[in-house]
Amino acid sequence: MSFWIGVDVGGTNIVCGIVNEKGEVLDSVKKPTEASLGSSSVLDKIAQMSLELAAGSGLQNQVAGIGIGIPGLVDPWKGIAQYSANLNWRDIPLSSELTQRTSLPVYIDNDVRMYVYGEAVYGAGQGVDFVLGLTIGTGLSAAMVNRGQLYYGHLNLAGEIGHGPMDGESAPCGCGFEGCLEAAASASGMVREAKRYIHQGRKTILTEWFPGERLQYLSAADLSKAMDAGDVLAAEIINHAGELLGKALVPTIHLLSPEVIIIGGGGANAGERLLTTVRGILMTRLLPDYRQHVSIRTASLGDGAGVIGSAMQAKQRHSIMS
Ligand SMILES: [Zn+2]
Repeated sequence: MSFWIGVDVGGTNIVCGIVNEKGEVLDSVKKPTEASLGSSSVLDKIAQMSLELAAGSGLQNQVAGIGIGIPGLVDPWKGIAQYSANLNWRDIPLSSELTQRTSLPVYIDNDVRMYVYGEAVYGAGQGVDFVLGLTIGTGLSAAMVNRGQLYYGHLNLAGEIGHGPMDGESAPCGCGFEGCLEAAASASGMVREAKRYIHQGRKTILTEWFPGERLQYLSAADLSKAMDAGDVLAAEIINHAGELLGKALVPTIHLLSPEVIIIGGGGANAGERLLTTVRGILMTRLLPDYRQHVSIRTASLGDGAGVIGSAMQAKQRHSIMS
């Protein structure tokens, strides 16, 4: 039995887990990324966390390699983190730098792809051949897994479903354009919409929960709670996000024909509140053959999906290379 270290590098935290060949996390640690200290300091930390985790589990001689998911543009085949706005990284030769520090083979990839790979093969998509996964968090991105293999596209750029223009939308998006799906339907987009309506004077329970300055602490999870409490504004925002998501998924499903669509990331916490609306659009607007054969569900591995996906993707790539 070999073991793999999976690392999920986020703008805020690094989560590092030791994973067995079945995709089970045996132990994990989490530390703040502190990206402002520079890439070299982050790499030192990843190496230290990985080696300590392996030693602490008594498995240091059985760890076969490390897989890492990074936000942003990655060249998985050259092992280079090309651009990450969250980490302020440009062209970091991550794989070779970490192999130097750990003496282990290191495989890197984009964090959304690793999350979706984890869910598709070991989580909510287990046993399914064609899986489309979406992460709804600060951003909104997708990845596709076909019979256990990720789809990368030209220049490894496949998956940016969040930057399609949506009719009638005008919210500014992080990409520089306005009216993108991500700007309205991501978890942070929904929160921003709620704040905008509150500033316009809309009545909502959220102003009681987050009076005055406290409004800055409003999260997407609070919108779900408010919807459950019967709040009209919260329901409107979540339903609207579901409608946009459904509209964006119709052509995507016609193009790719996934069997299962998995919704993950923070937005997945909205669960059926969001998915009921999405399903409604899909059942109305998909062509009949697709309508009967596609299902949409929430992710099942929680925060572990990125760690499991990174570790198991490293295992798969290592077996191809060796
Ligand atoms: Zn955009």
